[in-house]
Amino acid sequence: MYLGRLCELGPAEALYREPFHPYTVALLASIPSPDPDAPRSAAHEAISGDPPSPIDPPSGCRFRTRCPRAQDRCAAEVPELRMLAPDHAVACHFPVERSEDGR
Ligand code: SF4
Repeated sequence: MYLGRLCELGPAEALYREPFHPYTVALLASIPSPDPDAPRSAAHEAISGDPPSPIDPPSGCRFRTRCPRAQDRCAAEVPELRMLAPDHAVACHFPVERSEDGR
């Protein structure tokens, strides 16, 4: 969830192995590794900026002001949850594809 809206919904294993929503990807990328020598994921997409006010959220997708994938459509249209895999739904106009992050 981000600012009170569901971003992604699915079995825990699917969310960890194949996250589609940029916020989920960024959250998982921010988990510190216990191995200080482990390379960081090439798919690391940091969350920049501060969270917007929940009493005056951005139009369209509430994550758009911090999303590295945001485009004009994201400001104009609220992304609805849609199924991208069995039991795995995402609310994003431009979800992360498997081939994009080396998964
Ligand atoms: S709908 Fe747009 S702004 Fe929102 S998460 Fe997806 S790409 Fe990012």
